[in-house]
Amino acid sequence: MGKDMDKGLTDVGVLVDQEKRHLNYLRISITDRCNLRCLYCVPEGRIPKLDHDDILSYEEILRLVKIGIQLGIRKVRITGGEPLVRKGAVELLGRLTRIRKLEDVSLTTNGVLLAPNAQQIFDAGIRRINISLDSLDPQKYAQITGYDRFEQVWSGIQRAREIGFTPIKINVVAMRGINDDEIIAFGRLSLDHPFHIRFIEYMPIGNSRTSPQDQMLTPEIQEMIATIGELTPVGNGQNDGPARRYRIAGAQGEVGFISAMSHHFCNRCNRLRLTADGKLRACLLSDRHESLKELLRNDGSDEQLAEIFRIAVRHKAAKHQLCPDCVTPVKDQMQGIGG
Ligand code: SAM
Repeated sequence: MGKDMDKGLTDVGVLVDQEKRHLNYLRISITDRCNLRCLYCVPEGRIPKLDHDDILSYEEILRLVKIGIQLGIRKVRITGGEPLVRKGAVELLGRLTRIRKLEDVSLTTNGVLLAPNAQQIFDAGIRRINISLDSLDPQKYAQITGYDRFEQVWSGIQRAREIGFTPIKINVVAMRGINDDEIIAFGRLSLDHPFHIRFIEYMPIGNSRTSPQDQMLTPEIQEMIATIGELTPVGNGQNDGPARRYRIAGAQGEVGFISAMSHHFCNRCNRLRLTADGKLRACLLSDRHESLKELLRNDGSDEQLAEIFRIAVRHKAAKHQLCPDCVTPVKDQMQGIGG
């Protein structure tokens, strides 16, 4: 067993790293393109885009997922860029949900294209959906995202609810001077709707038009939410992520806090990330990656590709190095990594 552990593969064939973390969750960015330009995600000016040929094909992605499954991957999330801007994304979701050994397939989207696609996404077998929404005010939404698309997102959320997605998580990046005046309104949304509102701490990653000073940390956000009503902790289920979850007294939905900065959850991290151009990252907050694309496109065997997964796992840092007021160690852009 010792020898296998060194290779990142135990005798039962699962990826376990040096910290004994069991990596069974692959987040896949299927495109670096997005139909929004969020202040905290995208820098000023034009950003270089990957060429079509640089992006993994769906066949390549599915091959890597199957190799991942051999190594113990059981959960996949499709993200981006904005995944719904890539042609064929819904069909990919259907192909993934049909893989028996995958216990959970989910989608993260900004919701702009959700309303017209929600039924097909549901029919493809997706039930869990995360929708990013940083403001409930259409004008503010346009300031944050660069586009007047709030109504499209809101109707996507309503449509998802009618169709029966559950849970519907709404991800809010809380930022001082930008949407801090809406934190209570987001909390209240969980009173009358079965939504799971997730407050995400801003992480200074790559270039953006926001700064670490805009960041709000969970204790402050939680204190604001607690003024709405008593918060009762909700236990985490098997497929739940790192959010600390609560129900406000009398609420249909939940609130949760994802505190990568103030209370990192690295010791529980079970994630690997595959970027649209075929890089495997073991940590969102470290630019270290292993490239899979060259091997994929040069007749690499499944075993050779599996070895790349093991190398990534072997080098997964025990703990991320990002801190609220340090220079970011992450140069890559979030829309390329996938969040
Ligand atoms: N386009 C999809 C969406 O908007 O959900 C998927 C990709 S987006 C990069 C994934 C998530 O990352 C979103 O919830 C977004 O708010 C979050 N995000 C982007 N930049 C971030 C940052 N610097 N800190 C914290 N979260 C960030």
